[in-house]
Amino acid sequence: MSAEDYCDLCDLPKSQCIHGNPPAPPPPRATARTATPRAGRPVVKKAAPSRSVPRKWTPPEAFRPDIVAVLEEAGGQLEQEELFRALEDRMAERLTEADHQTTPEGELRWRYAARRARQALIADGEMTKGRPGVWSLG
Ligand SMILES: [Zn+2]
Repeated sequence: MSAEDYCDLCDLPKSQCIHGNPPAPPPPRATARTATPRAGRPVVKKAAPSRSVPRKWTPPEAFRPDIVAVLEEAGGQLEQEELFRALEDRMAERLTEADHQTTPEGELRWRYAARRARQALIADGEMTKGRPGVWSLG
């Protein structure tokens, strides 16, 4: 039998982490606001849905090259908190106000996106799932 399962996102035991069930929703795609309006069919402007979360989060893909770069500069691995500090510095000018807001679970959105980027990097073999709480290049 496996020992206690660890959360893929935060490396805490699932019983302790904030992600749990149900799985967190995927990040939003590009906003409609920046899209060029099309001539022709009339655009019906709808009021924002009641949950007025700004849709300007940086997607996980945007974090991938910077996570890899930070880890390379650190020699291949970093404690999660150190990685977040370095990543935040590195991406400071690109992170949006919305990125600095928190998810319903109370986690900073950009950190959540970075965790998802890490999962993708692990899936692609660019990173390894090492010790819990440590981010490592593969
Ligand atoms: Zn978790």
